[in-house]
Amino acid sequence: MVDLSRKYSWNGNEALINAAHMVNELHGVNDLQVENWLDYDEVDLLTKISKPHKETLLHDYISFITFTMYEYTLDKHFPMAVINPLVELMNIYDVDYSYLGEAPFIGLDDEDLHLYGYDQNLVEKFAHKIFKLYGEKLEPTMVSDIFTVLFANKQFLYEFNKQLQEVVEVLKLKDHPDYLKKDGVFKRCKYLPKWLQKGVFMRDKGRCQICGTDLTKVLHLDNQENYDHIIPLESGGTNDPTNFQLTCEHCNKSKGDRSTMYHSLGARFWENENLFPK
Ligand SMILES: [Zn+2]
Repeated sequence: MVDLSRKYSWNGNEALINAAHMVNELHGVNDLQVENWLDYDEVDLLTKISKPHKETLLHDYISFITFTMYEYTLDKHFPMAVINPLVELMNIYDVDYSYLGEAPFIGLDDEDLHLYGYDQNLVEKFAHKIFKLYGEKLEPTMVSDIFTVLFANKQFLYEFNKQLQEVVEVLKLKDHPDYLKKDGVFKRCKYLPKWLQKGVFMRDKGRCQICGTDLTKVLHLDNQENYDHIIPLESGGTNDPTNFQLTCEHCNKSKGDRSTMYHSLGARFWENENLFPK
């Protein structure tokens, strides 16, 4: 028997806490919204969003936000504000950091280091080492777990893609003829990979995200599934996986190219008659 538990296990609490942090950043708490990030991080945007990649643009954004948070704190010489949370994460995700050496200061606050006679430089060295270890061993898992929460949150994806739209809209065909169909409009990707279709179908629970009709073929055999750009390409949408939703053929056709109509259908686990009282 293959043990799949490790492959499928994740830390839901850490993912949720960090996902909430991403929502705040997208809303501009530290001025690290999409446009600023793209400038600051010199992201190769066109290659990235001209066709779907498993490592989506949102993965890159999450990675940037978490890295920046720790880097900033290290630069400001608050090593304990990096060490303590990373040690906690290493413990939660079962990453061995013992080879980094003795660290009796773990758990102290930055202002207490001096009081207990610890050498600031040595502690900062340790902070850089554990941050490096985080990048090597933990970061991909953390990013993937946070992505899992955010990819299920249509509202976040919509806001993320709306910010992206502002960047795409001003791109000029003459500067990027390989990627664009005309000014501000990306070429349609030739086909949607199966992994993406499967992921979006699972996330949207087999329902058209506009009218709610069942597309699983359990209830209706004749309903056709469509993978719809939430922000249409014609309106500055991209081929990044974060910009797709499941729709039926009727809604897909009637939505039109310029409408950014979007619904956040929440699949409740059971009905509650107290919701939406008449
Ligand atoms: Zn529909």
